[in-house]
Amino acid sequence: MSIKLYGMVCGYMTMPKGFLVDGAEGDITAPILSYLIEHPRGTVVFDTGLEPQLHESDCDREEALGPLAPVTTVDFTPNEDIAARLEAAGRDPSKIDFMINSHLHLDHAGGNALLPNARWVVQQREHTAAFADEGYEKHYYRKRLFDLGHDVIKPDGEYDVFGDGSVVCTPTYGHTTGHQSLKLKLDEGEVMLTGDACYLCQSLDEMRLPPGFLEDPDEMLCTMHRFRDFQASGGALIFGHDPSQWAGKDGALEEIDVAKTPNARIKRT
Ligand SMILES: [Zn+2]
Repeated sequence: MSIKLYGMVCGYMTMPKGFLVDGAEGDITAPILSYLIEHPRGTVVFDTGLEPQLHESDCDREEALGPLAPVTTVDFTPNEDIAARLEAAGRDPSKIDFMINSHLHLDHAGGNALLPNARWVVQQREHTAAFADEGYEKHYYRKRLFDLGHDVIKPDGEYDVFGDGSVVCTPTYGHTTGHQSLKLKLDEGEVMLTGDACYLCQSLDEMRLPPGFLEDPDEMLCTMHRFRDFQASGGALIFGHDPSQWAGKDGALEEIDVAKTPNARIKRT
């Protein structure tokens, strides 16, 4: 049974690169990514990008971006949110079957409201942390982005969405308490959508963690070693915010050609 993987860039955030890679200099313009997976038995969106409120000129940036507000420029137009990206490609956002969040930060769960009828898949421990009273203060979770009454599936560990091993949520804790990545079996081989378990190819090459927005550095390093093993065994990685993998694209929904995606497959020794 073959499945198709599409990527979308749902805006950009420009910030000091040192936020993503400890000690790095200069700024980085990071793509905000969402993915569509079409399986013969249903459709999946992995991560939903930023919230539409950020389109508005009177948006309360402090509230929307929290500690990122003073140091981040958001480049995000109304035709770039997850619903607009899907609609432009002839897909109906109200008919998406599964909405999977890697985690519940503002650049990954911001568009959840735009997929109103999807079943929501989020790790149990991420759900618990995000709904905790201190969630916003400790971890920058904004409940209004995801406390929307979706029918929720809360796995504690791996979750095989269609029961055939082709679309599997894989726990990759560290960045947040309950972060998960998405492992896919395409005709051309296995692919891992890392989410923020690994921001950039450089993060993995140099095994460098971000200095902040990080729940557990040891867990995150364990996760990154697993990504290295996955790549070494022939798997491909699509990183959380790596500009090099999206260079030259206009961001519209487009099937991902893993063989032509820079830095997806590397044999490390
Ligand atoms: Zn992110």
